Amino acid sequence: MKSENNTGVDTKNDATYHSRSGPMHIDDRRYEDFPGKLFVESCWNRGHGNNPDFNGAARDGCGFYQFNNFEGIRDSTASAFLAPAMKRPNLFVRTYSAATKINFDGDRASGVNFVRVNPLPPLYNTNAEMQTAIAKKEVIVAAGAIHSPKLLLLSGIGPADELKQVNIPVKKDLPGVGKNLHDHSMTWVEWFFDDVFYPSAYTISKHLDAYAWNRNGIFAWSGLGGGGFIKTKPEMDRPDVQFTCFPKDLQSEIDQDTVAVNTTRKAAMVVTITLDTPKTKGYVSLASDDYKADPILGDTLEQQFRAGTNHPDDMASLVAGINALRNIKNTPPMSTRVGAEMNPGSQVNSTADVEDWIRKNIKRTDHWVGSCKMGNDADPMAVVDERLRVRGLKGLRVVDGSIMPQINHGNTHATCIMIGEAGAKFIKEDNNT
Ligand SMILES: Cc1cc2nc3c(=O)[nH]c(=O)nc-3n(C[C@H](O)[C@H](O)[C@H](O)COP(=O)(O)OP(=O)(O)OC[C@H]3O[C@@H](n4cnc5c(N)ncnc54)[C@H](O)[C@@H]3O)c2cc1C
Repeated sequence: MKSENNTGVDTKNDATYHSRSGPMHIDDRRYEDFPGKLFVESCWNRGHGNNPDFNGAARDGCGFYQFNNFEGIRDSTASAFLAPAMKRPNLFVRTYSAATKINFDGDRASGVNFVRVNPLPPLYNTNAEMQTAIAKKEVIVAAGAIHSPKLLLLSGIGPADELKQVNIPVKKDLPGVGKNLHDHSMTWVEWFFDDVFYPSAYTISKHLDAYAWNRNGIFAWSGLGGGGFIKTKPEMDRPDVQFTCFPKDLQSEIDQDTVAVNTTRKAAMVVTITLDTPKTKGYVSLASDDYKADPILGDTLEQQFRAGTNHPDDMASLVAGINALRNIKNTPPMSTRVGAEMNPGSQVNSTADVEDWIRKNIKRTDHWVGSCKMGNDADPMAVVDERLRVRGLKGLRVVDGSIMPQINHGNTHATCIMIGEAGAKFIKEDNNT
């Protein structure tokens, strides 16, 4: 990715996949967590390959994640991209403001209406003054996969029949706006450790010391480390599930070299199983023409799993993911250090019982994408074209995760940054700047 500055040990020299000169800092983990190490070694011993770079040549295999991290401090798009640009004379950032409608001059987007919002709920003030920003060249919508379609719909861009139901005049009938909403979604397996760990003042001070002097140790850690991607059927061309390992609580982590005192509570670890290629899709729609109303999220993967209307392949992948994790747990070193299964629990064994447990324990991952999808003229559900321009209108683009026709493998943040990179290039090229 052009925007990254990857200082990871395994990846830093691989210019095919990683840049070392972008503004977004990416680094290897700066702390080796105990459950993550156990888990990844068991994966390798079970025959899942060693993948030193999930964002390199191949996705399959197990290993350790990289993080948005600069010398032990979390990096973000705000610190990497926005902060250095704040001095530019042509940039004005209006915080605590929400766009409520895109305005048009004929078919050309001419600006937006916006209101001041509150930092804490309730977001909208009842009598907020409506303000207007005028676009000299383009309006760029980048409000994410839930709010970008909401803004388009409030502006009359979307399925004509739905807009009429909420009394919004149709500016452009685009049936795909709000449709194709999806997310990775996950379930999990949890085990108790056989040992009881208890943090001592000594261990905590040791980690504080490590952070203060070297920016490593537990305080430089995001809380996860080990994981991987596997194909639940050999004939698949790509992995369909992702594993991520966490200690159940910090008690499981701080630390292995400490004598247990004054507690009988067992530590625990959890591994999440995320659907890497979800096929169950939902939608975003408007509850009313009032910008203050929350949008409706319908037929989401969680809702469909509970209702039993989900795509069968998604359930099959999650069941197979739980089975794979149980096999990994029965492989050393996990088999010697990890004890009873807390969830789903050893009594949840038959496929029907596992499916039932998943239906009750499926969670979203907040990797929402797809609701303003990109596509060509042959696709009536396409909202934007290959340069992210809203179809049938002028001076209007959507540049965020909502344009993905299908969610990417792995997590979504880096892909959204790449969409931003591409969008910036298109905007500059198309405006000769
Ligand atoms: C809790 C959580 C954890 C996550 N963890 C990971 C992770 O570990 N790894 C990973 O890769 N991804 C992760 N993700 C997903 C990742 O953050 C998203 O995929 C990515 O940020 C989406 O980018 P986006 O540009 O599409 O939208 P967003 O990042 O959501 O940006 C949209 C912006 O628009 C603003 N906005 C919304 N409505 C309006 C409006 N009407 N007017 C003006 N502004 C508006 C919002 O405030 C927001 O700042 C996580 C997401 C969440 C919520």
